[in-house]
Amino acid sequence: MEIKQVAVIGAGTMGNGIAHVFAQFGYQVKLIDVNQALLDKAKATIEKNLSRQVTKGTLTEELKLATLARVALSTEIKDAGTSELVIEAATENFEIKTQLFKTLDSVCRPEVVLATNTSSISITQIASVTQRADKVIGMHFMNPVPVMKLVEIIRGLATSDETYAVVKSLTEKLEKTPVEVNDYPGFISNRVLMPMINEAVFCLMEGVATKESIDSVMKLGMNHPMGPLQLADFIGLDVCLFIMNVMHEGLGDDKYRPCPLLKKMVNAGYLGYKSGRGFYDYPKK
Ligand code: NAD
Repeated sequence: MEIKQVAVIGAGTMGNGIAHVFAQFGYQVKLIDVNQALLDKAKATIEKNLSRQVTKGTLTEELKLATLARVALSTEIKDAGTSELVIEAATENFEIKTQLFKTLDSVCRPEVVLATNTSSISITQIASVTQRADKVIGMHFMNPVPVMKLVEIIRGLATSDETYAVVKSLTEKLEKTPVEVNDYPGFISNRVLMPMINEAVFCLMEGVATKESIDSVMKLGMNHPMGPLQLADFIGLDVCLFIMNVMHEGLGDDKYRPCPLLKKMVNAGYLGYKSGRGFYDYPKK
């Protein structure tokens, strides 16, 4: 089946980026969220990000307008039913995602692939609530989607080779690089990244060094563009804690136990950039 129209469920940080990229590469996009205000905000973000590409000279004004025209908005999940592929990028919550997949399974044609952008929930478990587990797959884009080249493609236990091939080829059409991953907690990206961040928090808690020193070592010594504590602030300390907990529980190894200081900061409401305070302060502009 040729894919011309895709539905993106959830118009937040990732959903608007995913819609942007598909539309830019010529796909008709149905962007679906729970209310119109969120959808309008997402479309304004897409327009702002496309305008930045025009200013940089990587996109023409004509292509920007054509891209925007390919993004249709909807508050009705049943509108995903006309699409040839669905990418779910709704809130990271097991109940929300399983409910969505049950609904998508009933409104989409049986041959349609249902992909999820989840960072930490098992693809195998999401697939199990549908009647098409062979057509459920992880398509894990990185933030910001229009800029980052990697897409982790996660195969659930039942995902077929055919489904994998469809999603791999689609990723390449978006000029991104697919990496094949099997379904284990944290996939590759978070399995490697989060323990590094967690260890940096242990270093801070144990007084090994100051936050600035820990970040400097990783930036200047390892050539990371950002230190792990600053990166944690941008990801959100609650998100980091949630993913560490998923890996701790899912892999059953204490090497994944979240650092007590990370827990304490989340309990205090210090969530990083979004709350104005994390390991660093972010005064409101
Ligand atoms: P977000 O909070 O910015 O957006 C989530 C959106 O989903 C919201 O607009 C919300 O209204 C919508 N939503 C919730 N329930 C819905 C429903 N039933 N139907 C339709 N829309 C619904 O979240 P985000 O950061 O964009 O994350 C989305 C997904 O992408 C999550 O699974 C997350 O783990 C994953 N992810 C996030 C990042 C990141 O850096 N933010 C990176 C990779 C993957």
